[in-house]
Amino acid sequence: MAYDPQVVEAARTRLEKRRRDAEAEAAALRESLGVRIPRLREIEREMAAAIPELTHAILAGSADTELERIRQYNLLLQQEMADILHTAGYDRDNFEPRYTCARCKDTGYVQGVVCDCYRRLLQEEACRRLSGLSAMRLTDFDSMRLDYYEDRVDPKLGVSPRQHMADIIGYCRDYTAHFSPHSDSLLLQGATGIGKTHLCLAIARGVTEQGHGVVYGSVQPLVRQLEAEHFGRATGDSESQLVGCDLLVLDDLGMEFDSPFARACIYNILNARLLEGRPTVVSTNLSLSALQERYGDQIASRIAGGFVPLLCVGRDIRQIIRRQSMG
Ligand SMILES: [Zn+2]
Repeated sequence: MAYDPQVVEAARTRLEKRRRDAEAEAAALRESLGVRIPRLREIEREMAAAIPELTHAILAGSADTELERIRQYNLLLQQEMADILHTAGYDRDNFEPRYTCARCKDTGYVQGVVCDCYRRLLQEEACRRLSGLSAMRLTDFDSMRLDYYEDRVDPKLGVSPRQHMADIIGYCRDYTAHFSPHSDSLLLQGATGIGKTHLCLAIARGVTEQGHGVVYGSVQPLVRQLEAEHFGRATGDSESQLVGCDLLVLDDLGMEFDSPFARACIYNILNARLLEGRPTVVSTNLSLSALQERYGDQIASRIAGGFVPLLCVGRDIRQIIRRQSMG
C-alpha cells in the first residue's frame, strides 16, 4: 500500500525517536554506572582487548585450547558484568541499547526488507491521520452511563431500555475483546443522542489498543477528504486506507451532505470491505427502509445482508445532561 509522504515522515520520526531513545538510555547508564562502579569500565576494556587477541590467535594458527581459553575468559567477563548490573538493581546483562524491536534494532529494515514494526507504525499513522483520535482517547465502555436509560420495562422490547442497552454494551465489549480482521460488521441503529457515537468510539479505541489498524470517522468529514483528494485539492490515498484498514468505524451515516459523489464513495468502500471480508461498524439514525430510500437498493441490501443489526434505544442523553446541568 502506498502511503502519503506525511504518513511516512511521521512513522519514520517515531521509529528514529525509538532508536535514539534506546541508544541514549544505554549510553547514559554506561556513563553513570561506570563512574560509580569502576570495575565495569575495566571489564569493558578487557572485553575490547579480547577481540584482537582472538583474531591474532586465529591468524597465528594457535591451538584450539588457546582459542577456547580466550572465549571462556570473555564469557566470564560477560557474566561478571551481568552480575554487577543485577546486583546494582538493573534488569539487563550489558549496555547494549534496548530497542523496541529487537529484530531490526528500530531501523525499520531487516536485510533490506521492511520490518513488521515499521509496517505497523505506517498503518497506525495512516489511521491516526484519518481518525478523530483525540475524541477516542477519552471514551471507553466503562464511561457509558446506564442511569441515563429508563429502568421501566418497555413492552416493545420486553425489557427496560436500561437492560437492553446493558446487553448492547456487553455485546460491543465482547466484540472488541475478541476482535479479529475477520470479525462481523455491526450496524448500530437508533435515534440521535442515545450513545451510538460513544459506542463507536469505545469500539474504535479498544480495537486500536490491541494493535489493529482502525479508522474512525463521521461520514461527512471522510467524504469531504475523499472529495478533496479526488479533485486534486489534497494529496493522499484515503480510500485505500478506508478500504484496507482492519476496522472501519463510520459514525453518523445519513448525516452527511447527500450527493452522487458521497453515495458512490460510501457504496465503493462498504462493498469493497464486504467483498474482502473486512469488518465495518456503521452507526446511523436511519432505519433500513430510510437507508434504502436515501442510498438506493445497492447500499441498503449490502448493509441488510452483511451487518449484524444492534438497535440502540433510550432518550436523548445530551438533552438529559443539559436539563440536569440547568436544574
Ligand atoms: Zn522492527
